[in-house]
Formats: sequence, C-alpha cells, structure tokens
Amino acid sequence: MSGILVVLEQRAGKIARINWEALSAAQRLGPSTSISAAILGAQTETAAAEIAARAPGKVIRVEHPLLTPYTADGFILSLHQLIQSESSTHVIFPHTYQVRDFAPALAARFGQVLISDVVAITAKAESDYPIFTRQLMQGRLTGNYRHAGNGPCFVSVQAGAFPVETAANSTPSEIATFTSTLDAAQIRTRPGEPFRAAAQAVDLASAQIIVSVGRGIGAQENIPIVQQLATALGAELAASRPICDAGWLPLERQVGSSGQTVAPKLYIAAGISGAIQHLVGIKASQCIVAINKDPAAPIFEVADYGIVGDLMEIVPALTEAAEAAKQRQS
Ligand SMILES: Cc1cc2nc3c(=O)[nH]c(=O)nc-3n(C[C@H](O)[C@H](O)[C@H](O)COP(=O)(O)OP(=O)(O)OC[C@H]3O[C@@H](n4cnc5c(N)ncnc54)[C@H](O)[C@@H]3O)c2cc1C
Repeated sequence: MSGILVVLEQRAGKIARINWEALSAAQRLGPSTSISAAILGAQTETAAAEIAARAPGKVIRVEHPLLTPYTADGFILSLHQLIQSESSTHVIFPHTYQVRDFAPALAARFGQVLISDVVAITAKAESDYPIFTRQLMQGRLTGNYRHAGNGPCFVSVQAGAFPVETAANSTPSEIATFTSTLDAAQIRTRPGEPFRAAAQAVDLASAQIIVSVGRGIGAQENIPIVQQLATALGAELAASRPICDAGWLPLERQVGSSGQTVAPKLYIAAGISGAIQHLVGIKASQCIVAINKDPAAPIFEVADYGIVGDLMEIVPALTEAAEAAKQRQS
C-alpha cells in the first residue's frame, strides 16, 4: 500500500487536535505507507511549517487565492487535481463540519463514497484492504467497511478515536507547493459565517480536563457550583443534552452523539445518568470520574472512579480540595 494523503484543516491559522488524530489514523494503515499532509488556502506557509514539524512525510501546500475563504467548489476542484497528481490510494480527513460539507462530493467525483466518522482502523497485513470501523445507531452497533480497491479510498475519522502519536520531527518534513487551477466562475457559492463562530468557539475536543454537568444539577442557578470546580481545575465546562436544550448552557458545550466528541485526560460527569448518546461522545476519555446519587446509574459502568452521593455536596468539596492543592503548590 502506498500514497496516503491526509487533508488537514486550518481555522484562522490554527490546527485543531483532530487534525493530528487524522495523521495518527493514517499511520494505522500499515508500515509500508508514504504519508503526505495537505493544507489548503490562499496562504498556508505558517500552517505548513507547523505541520512539517510534526507530520512524518511530505507536506503539500495547496495554494490559490480562491481557496480563502473556504468553499466546497474550490476545495473539491483543488483536491481532485492533487489526488490525481499524487495518485493517492487513501485520502484521510478529520471529521469536521467543513469535511462533511465537501468530502462526500469529492469522493463521488472519483466514483467512490466517503467512509465517514471512522473510530478504528485494522490494517490487514496479508492484504491491501484495511477494515474501517464506524458506529451506527447512536453507538449501539458497529459496522466494518472495506474498500474494494478501484480508485482512492476516502475516510474521515471521528474526534478522539485515534490518540495523537505524532511526536515532533527531529528534522522538519519537506514542504512542497501545489498550485491548483481554479477559475472564479467555478466557485458557485459564497460562504456565510462558519457554523461555530471562531470568536466564541468552545473547542471541547482539544480540552485536557472537562467537568460536565447533567440534569442532576436540578436548576440553572446551581450551574456555578460546577463552573467553580471547572475553574479550580483549569477545565472546560461541558454538559449533557438536557442542560443545553433547556438553555442553561450554550449548545456548543454539549457532549454526545449530537454534540461534541471529546478525548480529555480527565472527564468528570456530575449528575449525568450515562445514556448511550452521551457515552459515545466521551468514550475516548482517558479517565472518567462519575458523581451520581443513584448507584445503579449506567455512567458507573464506564467510569474509572465512581462517587455515589449528592453532587451538591461532593462538587463543592472537590473544588475546595483543588483550591487547597493549588495553594500548596504556589
Ligand atoms: C437522537 C438523540 C440524540 C441525543 N444526543 C445527545 C447528546 O449529544 N448528548 C447527551 O448528553 N444526550 C443526548 N441525548 C439525550 C440522551 O438520551 C439522554 O436523555 C441525556 O443524555 C440524559 O441527560 P442527563 O444524564 O443529564 O439526564 P438524566 O438522564 O435525567 O440523568 C440525571 C442523573 O442525575 C442523577 N442525579 C439527580 N440528582 C442528583 C444529585 N443531586 N446528585 C448526583 N446525581 C444526581 C440521577 O441519578 C440521574 O442519573 C440524545 C437523545 C437522542 C434521542
């Protein structure tokens, strides 16, 4: 197997964690692979240098004035040219909103489908056909997919599914430039504001510590109790869906199948029952601590540490302990 292209995404010059996860996923395709990382835009120099410091293979700057701002037409036309020029066998994307917008149409141009939201890759040493695993029906089922091999295989990977393994390169990777042929008349759409406005975006996917609150909090006026723990731990505040549906916290803080997928080192779930739609969003967490007054709550089945009790007592006690620990360190 050869010729893997990983298409990375920059947002206001920043490269989110899910992009490094996509590079890790590419490395699962087997040892005999050559990996190139592509970054698209009008000016990609800074982002390319950052990628070259971490990506194992070649970095390709796909540049054209018409690639900023993003449009599906511009990205599809440019990547179509690049994939043909590179003879890529596999094209890997992070499963972002932008990728959902253009990647299925790009795959269709090659007579392929996008195997989307992949959570595991099993490389088959004896054949050229790796197995891609996706979750179905809100995580109740998993499906295994194999690409038959006629044309490039398009895959997007779920946030948090592939631990970042790209250490800094001792020597930065080679950076090449690919200038795509684009004409303004080919861009049929004018982009609006991105779905998550960059100014207030909450990137829960990159958070190292998350304190998450569920319906057990009882009332909106109690949310500060959990916010204080998050602040004491230097954590992001997140929530289950009912909290966001009720407008107690903004939608961008929702974790789960219809919210964000997270992969922190520590996930504290306070007053969250552990419905499957919530669990699919937190399963990549390294350590889950659950606080729930019901010892039979399903969250305890996935928790590394469980605290059975009233969060109104436990959360302030944890905040106090975290503050005291910080005082001792300073
Ligand atoms: C299509 C679809 C998509 C969905 N997407 C999502 C999603 O993205 N994210 C998501 O979270 N949900 C999602 N849901 C909803 C999901 O099914 C659950 O309803 C939801 O996760 C429950 O949230 P919760 O755990 O906060 O509330 P509950 O299930 O009501 O649990 C509250 C928990 O708090 C405990 N509790 C109560 N009081 C206290 C106390 N004082 N101290 C300690 N514990 C206490 C209770 O024992 C209980 O376990 C989705 C549902 C559907 C159908």
